[in-house]
Amino acid sequence: MKNIKSNVVLRGILLAVFTLYCLSSLTCYSSPGDLGISDGQGLRLVILNYHKIGNYNDFYSVSSKQFSEQVDYLFNNGYAVISLADFRSWRQGEIELPNKVFMLTFDDGNKSDYETVYPLIKERGLKGVFFLKTKAINTEGYLNAAQIKEMSGSGLCEFGSHSVTHRNVNTLSKKILNGELIDSRNTIQSITGKDVYAFAYPNGMWDEAAMEALMENDYQFAYTVMPGMNDLKTNPLELRRIIINRGVSHKIFVAWVERDEKLYKRYYSAMFKKASRDGLSAVAKLCEEELHK
Ligand SMILES: [Zn+2]
Repeated sequence: MKNIKSNVVLRGILLAVFTLYCLSSLTCYSSPGDLGISDGQGLRLVILNYHKIGNYNDFYSVSSKQFSEQVDYLFNNGYAVISLADFRSWRQGEIELPNKVFMLTFDDGNKSDYETVYPLIKERGLKGVFFLKTKAINTEGYLNAAQIKEMSGSGLCEFGSHSVTHRNVNTLSKKILNGELIDSRNTIQSITGKDVYAFAYPNGMWDEAAMEALMENDYQFAYTVMPGMNDLKTNPLELRRIIINRGVSHKIFVAWVERDEKLYKRYYSAMFKKASRDGLSAVAKLCEEELHK
């Protein structure tokens, strides 16, 4: 119960920051920055997190138009889109990447992934990473196995685990958590025939025990919903993602992507206090790291 409440409060803080930020004046950014090839140190990876795209009556949905504007901004400002496999190969020193890159991620496995996102991905030459809560596959409002198979077969869409039941991983016993990690992976792999090595924390919650369980089960990457940039120093089990929802105007989108100091400081100060109070030490530690960047 405490964790459910805690989620609501965490989301509340995020919304409050958005609102405050809308009201305050913003620094304008003219980007691009150099487009050199990353030697490992210079790479700056922005990961965006979407849920539904299209006309839905849902706070965690954005219109196709907003999505396209956001992608346009990134392309126009010198960012290149990469897949998770690209990021993994880069981390292993197998390939080089431009310094400014972005990754698109979509959580939960909503049917809009197939109906709206997949056509946009094909049309615009994008790549996407989709995190499935596997219990929902083949149920109303969610992707079915045939759609997942088709998207995966296109080579443009990768699939990761978002657990089986979408419970907060920090509330589960080790045995149950292991089951969530193993069963969700098996389900996805049986549909796509491809390896699953990435996880997105349900509701953005995690702790040290969850990271250990992920490592023990050979997951190489895990995605939070803490905003920020990713580079070679980022813990691969604590990847930063910027959540895009209806509250994110274009101005705020740019401020998150370009790491507006005032916005980040405000967000992470509030989040640090909250996480410390709730004994969420992994979250508090990440907040501290971000505050000292
Ligand atoms: Zn989710």
